[in-house]
Amino acid sequence: MFDVLLTDPEKALRDEARAFVRDAVSPALLKAMDAGEVEYPRDAVRAMGKAGLLGVRFAPDHGGRGASWAAELAVVEEFGALGTALGCAQAMPSIVGEALSRFGTDDQKRRYLAPILAGELVAAEGLTEPRGGSDFFGATTTARQDGSHFVLTGQKRFVVGAAGADVFLIYARTGAPDAPPHKSISAFLVDRSLGVDVKHLYGLLGTRGGGTGRIHLRDVRVPAENLVGKLHGGTEIFNRMMVPERLTSAAGAIGMARCSLEIATRYAQKRKAFGRPIRDYQAVSFRIAESVARLDAARALAFVAGRTVDAGLDGRRLVSEAKKVATEAGWATVNDAMQVLGGIGYTSVFPIERMLRDLRLTMIWTGTNEVMNLLTYHEYAKELLGSKAAVRDVESDAGDADAIEEKVYE
Ligand SMILES: Cc1cc2nc3c(=O)[nH]c(=O)nc-3n(C[C@H](O)[C@H](O)[C@H](O)COP(=O)(O)OP(=O)(O)OC[C@H]3O[C@@H](n4cnc5c(N)ncnc54)[C@H](O)[C@@H]3O)c2cc1C
Repeated sequence: MFDVLLTDPEKALRDEARAFVRDAVSPALLKAMDAGEVEYPRDAVRAMGKAGLLGVRFAPDHGGRGASWAAELAVVEEFGALGTALGCAQAMPSIVGEALSRFGTDDQKRRYLAPILAGELVAAEGLTEPRGGSDFFGATTTARQDGSHFVLTGQKRFVVGAAGADVFLIYARTGAPDAPPHKSISAFLVDRSLGVDVKHLYGLLGTRGGGTGRIHLRDVRVPAENLVGKLHGGTEIFNRMMVPERLTSAAGAIGMARCSLEIATRYAQKRKAFGRPIRDYQAVSFRIAESVARLDAARALAFVAGRTVDAGLDGRRLVSEAKKVATEAGWATVNDAMQVLGGIGYTSVFPIERMLRDLRLTMIWTGTNEVMNLLTYHEYAKELLGSKAAVRDVESDAGDADAIEEKVYE
């Protein structure tokens, strides 16, 4: 139905992802991951790379497909069927790749970006610290320059892929203690072999098998050529990385919720209560209809955000809105799908209970939905209050618009 938004090559790429998701990942892998029997799904990531389905929007010179954001959203939506852990493994090359493709040196692109997109090298990102994730600029991990190296010290928490990554993109404070935080942070590529220590692997409600852990960097010496972008230039990289962080979260949530909706719709067709298929009860069919409309609206918003970024425009507000709206639509849809199935939906006979556990995370990670609200308000107020567009003064249409003495603001 959303085919109208995609060109023929974009549809073909989406269909490649659909076929991969259908055929190349066994139910046994998903079950083992959810059971905590897999630390990190490395073989699956390698297969995604081999199929050319990692970081599809990057240039073909580095192993991408030169696709648009709209096409990448369609691809990520398909991967949503595999849950958040595999979905994140598929999205991470797009996130770390954004930093490398836009800010990396040719050498970094050759040594890191190309092997990451090929699925040969696994990357993870360390932004969140034990003291907080929302307050990114309050990071306390430090990088001190020492000749041709930087010495990194600190901890990063909730790093997906901590158990399996070969390289970590780490943000660390490089400025003087009294420098403004947004001019004090730099990004580094830190090879695991340099001494990244995984201190704890988290027991998670869902998103299992993705190797989420806390890492410790204790005087890790990183060669200066692994600084990404400019010294103290981390803010620009962070802002750019938030586009793939949030758009992939949005599309993945839509994909997973779409699967739960399909299960619920088929179930309602077959399941009978009081001698009639339950889809005959409006309590059931309207619940499904509302989910369909909610997901369509979320997908439309995500596509508009993607096209806005493709057009080189400032998509900050739309990207934040898309992340919040899509993850909340996804959550409501999976929850409704569970209700349609009744008791059996709450069991592991159907995958909806896993989707519910997985999807809950999407409202927390890549910036909580409260942080999305902060950004949306900030950007909207800036746009509106700074606008000089000559529009109708609708305030003067009020019946008592001239009661100036009643317009009290303080
Ligand atoms: C399974 C999992 C995987 C993750 N993967 C990664 C990863 O790979 N790399 C990485 O760096 N991070 C990762 N994260 C971290 C994630 O992005 C953070 O958990 C998230 O940004 C919130 O940070 P926090 O947990 O420290 O919560 P806090 O920042 O402490 O926030 C706590 C609560 O306060 C609210 N809050 C905070 N500040 C404000 C404010 N100014 N206004 C309104 N509300 C506010 C938040 O919305 C939240 O509800 C992951 C997290 C999980 C659970």
